[in-house]
Amino acid sequence: MSNFPCSACGCCCKNADVAVERYKLLDPDFIFPYKIEDGVCSKLKDNKCIVYNRRPILCKVDRLAEKYNIELGWFYSANIDACNKMMDDNNIDLKFRIYKLNIVSNFDIRISNL
Ligand code: SF4
Ligand code: SF4
Repeated sequence: MSNFPCSACGCCCKNADVAVERYKLLDPDFIFPYKIEDGVCSKLKDNKCIVYNRRPILCKVDRLAEKYNIELGWFYSANIDACNKMMDDNNIDLKFRIYKLNIVSNFDIRISNL
């Protein structure tokens, strides 16, 4: 179970093509297992991931931090910035923004066993 404070805006899943392209810079052999149409992952239904428990590593903040040996608190913070920026760029309702003050106490959380 991840402690990343995802607000479930769905923005990253609606821009999955961008995420895959970026991740391929780290792992050129990575193949995203699902169809992406107009940037939207085909596993996003009603703004929810229908394969959540078997989503690829690209969609798992904690696993990425673990794989690339990135300090988890820093990585959460960087991902929150990226999420909020993506929401701004896609005119997502302000109620989905993530505020770091809410997760300061989570910064020493160890990587969970997803
Ligand atoms: S963009 Fe961030 S907050 Fe929105 S669904 Fe993706 S991980 Fe969650
Ligand atoms: S697999 Fe799930 S979490 Fe990953 S992009 Fe698709 S809908 Fe989003």
